Amino acid sequence: MLPNDRLTIALEIHATSFRLLKWVAEAVAKGFIPATRAHQYANDGDSAREWVVEHFENLPRDCRPDRARLREFGQFFGTYLTSSFDIVEQPGLRRVDPCGCGCRFCSYLTKASHLRPKKTAQRHKDRARRLMEQRLVSLAFEEGIQANEDDVRYLCESDEARRYTAYSAYGYWLIRRLDGETDGTSILALWREMAWTRQGSPMKNFKLRIDDIRDAESNLVLKLRSLAEKRTSG
Ligand SMILES: [Zn+2]
Repeated sequence: MLPNDRLTIALEIHATSFRLLKWVAEAVAKGFIPATRAHQYANDGDSAREWVVEHFENLPRDCRPDRARLREFGQFFGTYLTSSFDIVEQPGLRRVDPCGCGCRFCSYLTKASHLRPKKTAQRHKDRARRLMEQRLVSLAFEEGIQANEDDVRYLCESDEARRYTAYSAYGYWLIRRLDGETDGTSILALWREMAWTRQGSPMKNFKLRIDDIRDAESNLVLKLRSLAEKRTSG
């Protein structure tokens, strides 16, 4: 099962990132974006960390990351912004003064009010399914359960277990994203496996909670174990 301490940190950073992006989008819509030094980094996460450090005192309290977690926050926020959203160019809207840096992170940030969640194509959904299968294989391994391909496929196709699997895989990738690693738009497709209905619309009031990830993993462990036992006893 996923380590509780990392999962807790990842969920907190996930929630703070969402609030910070909303705040930045409102600030940009009002024509305000704090100027920044030019970033020399090749990595979005490093630019994001530097930006947060520079503007820390100006951010609303609930948008500030834990100071001890600035590196992880930057990595997460940087990849969140650039791999989950597209910039929609809308000529005719108020032009925002450039913040003084042309790096990729800043170009997303200064257009935060024009960001639209990326569209997920079939290939992203297929890739999300692959990430779910991989997570099940790892989970079985972590728990010392002998799972085979049929078990994994069965669980990814069953209505109930499929959503549990999405929770587990999304939780796994939340932790990876603290190190700036992401699988791009397939992570958004994974989110939709959890947070959207089968008919393809967002569930009302969906909130990602650590207990739901942990319950999902506990349920999957039981199911994996029972499938393995059935096979060896049959
Ligand atoms: Zn920059």
